[in-house]
Amino acid sequence: MTRRASSNRRGLRGDSVDLNPLFTRPGEAVDLPLFSLPDDEMLPETAYQIVHDEAMLDGNARLNLATFVGTWMEPQADKLYSETVDKNMIDKDEYPQTAAIEERCWRMIAELWNAPDPAHAIGTSTVGSSEACMLGGLALKRRWQQARRAAGLSTERPNLVMSSAVQVCWEKFCNYFEVEARYVPVSDEHRVLDGYRLEDYVDENTIGVVAIMGVTYTGAYEPVAQISAALDAIQERTGLDVRIHVDGASGGMIAPFLQPELEWDFRLPRVASINTSAHKYGLVYPGLGWVVWRTAADLPEELVFRVSYLGGDMPTFALNFSRPGAQVLLQYYTFLRLGRAGYTAVQAATRDVALHLSREIGAMGPFELWSDGGDIPVFAWALRADAGRNWTLEHLSDRLRAHGWLVPAYPMPAGLEDVTVQRIVVRNGLGFNLARDLLADIRASIAYLDSLDSAPPAPVAKAAFHH
Ligand SMILES: *Cc1c(COP(=O)(O)O)cnc(C)c1O
Repeated sequence: MTRRASSNRRGLRGDSVDLNPLFTRPGEAVDLPLFSLPDDEMLPETAYQIVHDEAMLDGNARLNLATFVGTWMEPQADKLYSETVDKNMIDKDEYPQTAAIEERCWRMIAELWNAPDPAHAIGTSTVGSSEACMLGGLALKRRWQQARRAAGLSTERPNLVMSSAVQVCWEKFCNYFEVEARYVPVSDEHRVLDGYRLEDYVDENTIGVVAIMGVTYTGAYEPVAQISAALDAIQERTGLDVRIHVDGASGGMIAPFLQPELEWDFRLPRVASINTSAHKYGLVYPGLGWVVWRTAADLPEELVFRVSYLGGDMPTFALNFSRPGAQVLLQYYTFLRLGRAGYTAVQAATRDVALHLSREIGAMGPFELWSDGGDIPVFAWALRADAGRNWTLEHLSDRLRAHGWLVPAYPMPAGLEDVTVQRIVVRNGLGFNLARDLLADIRASIAYLDSLDSAPPAPVAKAAFHH
């Protein structure tokens, strides 16, 4: 057989198995259907290469300054991850050690959040803060229902009070679990929920108030103690005892290390539950979150299901059944690896970069800072009304994208919807060197936009091309 003939020999399903160079194999050389299952199989290397190449077109995660989610872990964590990707968190019987480690982690977190008696706190891992918030909200709703029923009162119209700047998961919670969402609008004077006129929103049907430690739009903390004091005043006047759930998706793993004196957590008796995203400043890959209740009594028993565990049973409270267990082990790795001192060092370094960037960007001229990164290492700025520019923050965002950076610009929530801000989330991995490059690219982008004689055309969202 000649060499040429053999290279044309076809495999069972049309793959030329042995000699065809990678990018000339069927699959790579042929246009694959995008929305229907291919008729035939292909070689694993070919499938790998196709998926690998498509993923290459995604942004570079390290240059994505829009996301809060961890994009880097140490090689030892990567090793642990690949060793444990097959573990299913719900199989407590099969993976009792992972179950035990999960409990250790949320107990450590309960202590970090100053639960009065961590031995009597209760908590669980989740897929992220969204699931954790659903669970926190469900517990508030059920407790309210129980109290209302016991008093012979209607449970028809529950409501939840929160800032108009809440993350979308709270809108989802209210929609999915049929709770009226009562948004307190943000304003120029009250840029976060701070207790101002809270009495106009809270009534006998209020299941709870959400306080955010690290507002997604700006990174600012809501003053939980002040919100709690406003609820004390409401209770004194009306007898209503309304509890707080703290959404600490990002700040829950920042405040204990960078602002240990700030009272935002279980030190405030009104705080019933707190959530955080382990995959944000918990420094773990996506998707892992935590929710902890002050005491077991704050989580109504009737919401808890029992799964078989070593012949006994294990209480669980979750929306998902099967979900990955590896992230829980990664969290334990990070807790052991960093300890209090290590977390403090990592978060402080991140905050220092945020403060440096915000100071430099604030001094550039056209911008007004909305926050400086001193709460969580996230800050936002607006274009000054008197900046006299032909361009907008969306144009700047578009220019930065050409340099590889993702720095989103978006309108503020209800109450300030006329204000557009641009935001940077500083994460572990954006060091001073990259920050210097980013500042240079922002300056170059401003110089370019300033050099144009008239307003540049409106940037077109990439997604628009796909539809
Ligand atoms: C990110 C975030 C969420 C949602 O968290 P996921 O872990 O992405 O589900 C909820 N609330 C706040 C304040 C957030 O920043």
